[in-house]
Amino acid sequence: MKEFEENIEQRCPRLGGRVSFRYCKTMGDDHSVCWKIFDCWWERFDVVNYLKNNLPKEKYDMLADSKPKPKVMTLVELAEKAKKRVL
Ligand code: SF4
Repeated sequence: MKEFEENIEQRCPRLGGRVSFRYCKTMGDDHSVCWKIFDCWWERFDVVNYLKNNLPKEKYDMLADSKPKPKVMTLVELAEKAKKRVL
C-alpha cells in the first residue's frame, strides 16, 4: 500500500473521532493491529488482502480469528481492574 493510502481517514466507532489507517494498524495491545480493522475498512479498500500480504502469517491468523469480547466480559474486566486500583 502506498504511503498516502495509509493516511486515509475515517470515523472510529470506538473513539468517535477521525483516525488514519496507519493508526488502526498500531493502536492495539503492544502496538498491534486493532481487532476491528476488518469491519472498519473493508468498504474503503481490500483490507483483508493488504493485511494478509503485510503481516506475519501468525499475526494475520490471530487477527482473523479474533472475535469481539462479549460486552458482559468487558464489564467484568473493568470491574476487576477498578477493584485492583482500590486495593
Ligand atoms: S480499526 Fe479500530 S481504531 Fe481503527 S477505526 Fe476501527 S475501531 Fe477505530
